Amino acid sequence: MRFLTFIYLLFLSTFAIAQDTDRKIQFPDVDGYKTLKCDLHIHTVFSDGTVWPTIRVEEAIKDGLDAISLTEHLEYQPWSADIPHPDRNRSYIIAKEAAKAHDLMIIHGTEITRQLPPGHANALFIEDANKILKKEAIDAYTEAHNQGAFVFWNHPNWVNQEKDGLPQLSDFHKELIEKDYLHGIEVVNDLTYSEGALDIAQKNNLTVIGTSDIHGLIDWQYDIPEGGHRPVLLVFGEERSIESIREGLFAGRTIAWYYNILVGNEEVMNPLLDACLQFKSKGYFGNSTALEIEITNTSDARFMLFNESAFEFYEHNDLIEVQPHSSRIIRVLVDSVDSDSITLNFKVMNAVIGKKKNATIDVTFDR
Ligand code: ZN
Repeated sequence: MRFLTFIYLLFLSTFAIAQDTDRKIQFPDVDGYKTLKCDLHIHTVFSDGTVWPTIRVEEAIKDGLDAISLTEHLEYQPWSADIPHPDRNRSYIIAKEAAKAHDLMIIHGTEITRQLPPGHANALFIEDANKILKKEAIDAYTEAHNQGAFVFWNHPNWVNQEKDGLPQLSDFHKELIEKDYLHGIEVVNDLTYSEGALDIAQKNNLTVIGTSDIHGLIDWQYDIPEGGHRPVLLVFGEERSIESIREGLFAGRTIAWYYNILVGNEEVMNPLLDACLQFKSKGYFGNSTALEIEITNTSDARFMLFNESAFEFYEHNDLIEVQPHSSRIIRVLVDSVDSDSITLNFKVMNAVIGKKKNATIDVTFDR
């Protein structure tokens, strides 16, 4: 009887854990760094969002995030008749208080909100948002810089501001980069992805950023009950701290995670792919000379690997999918080569490292 109770409780707790962790965004740590899941562009009723800051804290905890920043528009306050907002730091202060009892870091941020150029930009790790509220855009950027902020250009592809959806680096932006006032650019914003923004990031050494820019509810916007997730930024930090996130952002160690796509620079992407995917030879299949390779995926991404080697597979064509948090076997027909080892080359269709460019993985096995 006691044993049955134990089994029953075990079943219940397993079920509870499975339910609880299901929506949490999970990527493994990489060699030498912690993988920190961040959403650095979020709104509340303290600008044009529709929820109180505490809801943002609860959503982030449900999603298993490490850090968020509430980045209220400094200059755009549509609810000010109902919610007067003389202190632009209130959203941060309320969220920080709500996060106290939890393992969630709150980064002090704000959104500098202008027409193009320079458009909208988020300033993070600030000291006082009120002081960044200035008449001239350049003065706002200068103040953010003086506060030691990391600043990124928001949704440069936004069709409300850039009609054709193709980001253009203006002279104003070039000046900001020159002065070290601008450090990153959103390649992913909410439901959009911009290849042009990725190109600007890589040509100007700006950090790749992906954010939700959520105004309503995360659950509704990203179909969480159906298995969706908000866009997040993976920041690779030496430790789990706000200072490490800051250092990782300035160093450009980021990958944006959007739908099933990972986006970032090759030197950051490769260690992440190494951490997410393991390849293991299981020997020959039965009496055949087909080599069994087990592929294990320890991340939330559904990996799509395209075989670019000359080898054929026994059951599959060249496109191999590896589901999140699972393993699968592929059987490689290797008898056509006369060598002690074989190398498989895959193009990772869901890992983007540049304009029209995907990450690649080469794995070598003994025969
Ligand atoms: Zn925004």
